Amino acid sequence: FQVKAPVNEPVKSYLPDSPEKAALKAELARQLANPVEIPLIIGGKEVRTEHKANIICPHNHNQVLGQYYIAGEKELLMAIEAAEAARAEWENMPWEHRATIFLKAADLLTGKYRAKLSASCMLGQSKNTFQSEIDVICELADFLRFNIYFTQEIYKQQPNNSDGVWNRVEYRALDGFVAAITPFNFAAIGGNLCTAPAMCGNTVLWKPSSTAVLANYYFMQILLEAGLPAGVINFVPCRGVDFGKVVVPHPKMAGFHFTGSTGVFNDIWKQVSQNIDNYVTYPRLVGETGGKDFIFAHESADVEALTCNIVLGAFEYQGQKCSAASRAYIPESLWPEVKTRLETEISKLKMGDVCDFTNLVNAVIDKKSFQNIKNYIDYVKESPDAEIIMGGDCDDSVGYFVEPTVIVAKTPTFKTMVEEIFGPVMTIYVYPNDKLDETLTACDTATSYALTGAVFAQDRAAIIKIAKALDHAAGNFYINDKPTGAVVGQQPFGGSRSSGTNDKAGSAINLYRWMNQRSIKETL
Ligand code: GLU
Repeated sequence: FQVKAPVNEPVKSYLPDSPEKAALKAELARQLANPVEIPLIIGGKEVRTEHKANIICPHNHNQVLGQYYIAGEKELLMAIEAAEAARAEWENMPWEHRATIFLKAADLLTGKYRAKLSASCMLGQSKNTFQSEIDVICELADFLRFNIYFTQEIYKQQPNNSDGVWNRVEYRALDGFVAAITPFNFAAIGGNLCTAPAMCGNTVLWKPSSTAVLANYYFMQILLEAGLPAGVINFVPCRGVDFGKVVVPHPKMAGFHFTGSTGVFNDIWKQVSQNIDNYVTYPRLVGETGGKDFIFAHESADVEALTCNIVLGAFEYQGQKCSAASRAYIPESLWPEVKTRLETEISKLKMGDVCDFTNLVNAVIDKKSFQNIKNYIDYVKESPDAEIIMGGDCDDSVGYFVEPTVIVAKTPTFKTMVEEIFGPVMTIYVYPNDKLDETLTACDTATSYALTGAVFAQDRAAIIKIAKALDHAAGNFYINDKPTGAVVGQQPFGGSRSSGTNDKAGSAINLYRWMNQRSIKETL
């Protein structure tokens, strides 16, 4: 059994009259007409509780897609028991059998269930067809296939022997279960955060985001159909406070795989440190957290490429990628042309419902997020230190719509230049051409984040200088490209500073975190 190096799942075009477009349209209509009921999955069994919540379309909050059950303390304890009960058998299952389950899941989601998964992500998370395709189909399948391949390659690594001695390393699972808390913005991240530890033989409690339950649940069903044994991954949507109370301090919690806000990850870290005497093993804490991702333009930049990438980087998926560009530094000499081009490009962006495939911009995820973004925009409207030059309208009468918004700030430390907003809001600081060094320092130090960033320049010396000045400011750094859209197997993803532990998603580094090595010396 030898898994070949995978290729990335090709992105389908959904052109008019294509079979994939027809299938997707039919599936969207079907899901809109048939609300679903989503149980917890604990030990392979469906579990229902007294608490339920609605799943709504962010772009039409009157449209209910279904309801999901919410786990309480009792169900979380049941899930821990199920994960613990499944652990020994799963860890000891021959690797090729574990691997086959995930490879089969990848084939099911890119084949038989492609339209179902994609439609659920479009409706539940307000993604346009392309954004949904690159997330819950391509990226998720890539995570499964590449992580299996990387795991296989890790398992092959063995130490040297000497005369009369046979040394070997066994790659065991962790000595306890893994907890995964996953975000709304990428269904693929949800799938990756629970499957990566599971591939390495761990059992998992998966708390999906309350606003991504639909697509995450359909993926959970695929895993079961592919043969994932009961209890290996337990699907438990729940309130963060209950997860914090029951799961985080549990003595058998051996690892935490997290994507979400810096604040929540810091709270988990603090809680773990307060409980440190109680764990069987030191929990591995792996997190991808916030960002304030930048585009830094040099006077030698190609203005057309720069402008297109500001628009795509800042406004695709309504700026709700952790990697989304949300601040830009533009030299004075380029600004008039950049501004004109931005006006032209942004005026072409159509906003609305995901079922109209011509809408590139859809809604932000929920009321809380809408209000948070609106508060920032209102703050700018009142401020003498910045000006909204494009967009700025917010309307939640039907769905949570925020216009793509461009702000020009007078200083590089203005509030929206430094704080994470997580919406379609780009703040630009126009710097004097002779103040490159000061502006690079501001870019590096203005925030505590270091997730993604991009430089636009044609001059090689400038690229080298800027890349060096910002070498710790981004875990994913792009030269003449937008700072979003990392592809599994090509650009391992993750930042440092207060953006995360840099255990790159979709890479061997991440997988090592879910393994306990046993080093064996046998004297012959
Ligand atoms: N990997 C995604 C990208 O490169 C971002 C992931 C995230 O938002 O957490 O755009």
